[in-house]
Amino acid sequence: MALINCPACRTKISSVAKVCPSCGYSKDPEAQADPEQIKLFQRRLFRDRMYKLRMFSYVAMTITMIGALPMLWDYIKGIESAVPIVLLDHWGIYAIAVGFIMYVAIRVFMTLVRRNFRANLPDEVQRTPPIQ
Ligand SMILES: [Zn+2]
Repeated sequence: MALINCPACRTKISSVAKVCPSCGYSKDPEAQADPEQIKLFQRRLFRDRMYKLRMFSYVAMTITMIGALPMLWDYIKGIESAVPIVLLDHWGIYAIAVGFIMYVAIRVFMTLVRRNFRANLPDEVQRTPPIQ
């Protein structure tokens, strides 16, 4: 079983698949996409996307720390030597600002991806009552 690119959406699909699980493209107009396969595909895509976003959010937190820790260090040293520094003048504030904005943007994006994933679930899944 080889992987080929779907001619419609460029997703890698099995060469034996009759229907692209991503976009529903088919060479055979009679063929129907298997709903189970579509569900599986979408779930995997969603998981991958969330995983990547979580990694990016860790990067953002690291950037914040790179700014915050030296800033705290210099602040403590400033107090000890009785020459307190102005925190807003410290270079660390830029790293904190960039990291924080990145983090918030990633979290917002994650919420959108999750909402989008839930909205696109097939009807039966949405109607299934929670397990008692
Ligand atoms: Zn496709």
